[in-house]
Amino acid sequence: MSTLITELVLASHNAGKLKELQALLGEQIKVRSVAEFSALQPVEDGLSFVENALLKARHAARVSGLPALADDSGLAVDALGGAPGIHSARYADGQGDAANNAKLLQALKDVPEGERGAQFVCALALLRHATDPLPIICEGLWRGRILHQPQGRNGFGYDPLFWVSEHDCSSAELSAQEKNRLSHRGRAMALLRQRLGLT
Ligand code: IMP
Repeated sequence: MSTLITELVLASHNAGKLKELQALLGEQIKVRSVAEFSALQPVEDGLSFVENALLKARHAARVSGLPALADDSGLAVDALGGAPGIHSARYADGQGDAANNAKLLQALKDVPEGERGAQFVCALALLRHATDPLPIICEGLWRGRILHQPQGRNGFGYDPLFWVSEHDCSSAELSAQEKNRLSHRGRAMALLRQRLGLT
């Protein structure tokens, strides 16, 4: 497996993600963006992180003819039955991170301290080709707790509300390197490196 993949396409139009992934995978694998091959993005109508990662990877493999990697991630809050989950990015109907965070705080306003557990989730799907029947799936989970008000300026999304007890701070108070070591995405990527024989 490790020697077979020397080039892959990332199912994302985000240049930051491409750079991050290239750094994680190192020189051995050249990472290209699906944007080089298609301007269209598939509808993410899966019911789980894994399904959405798979359908994005399948689309990228189809339009590029290359092995394809996709990620799907979000925040699952225990007291909300796993919401916002796969809807994390558009929880407040596309109004952005601040509105998402405000909506989450409102939903949890009567939830006591001991019941504010949550986890960030990241699913990665790697397809060797568009009809690969045995994709590589790697998941990363990061447990934490939802704060009562935003704290910290780093990161993005729900980071200011996500309390990291090992470090006694919110994930928006961690450096990018610390967050990568602990985070759902960092964990899923570490598993992927192992599966590709890169570690
Ligand atoms: P994406 O699939 O990586 O674009 O992420 C989906 C959404 O989940 C983001 O828009 C954020 O709202 C949330 N999310 C995913 N990962 C993180 C994270 O590391 N910190 C904060 N929010 C995140």
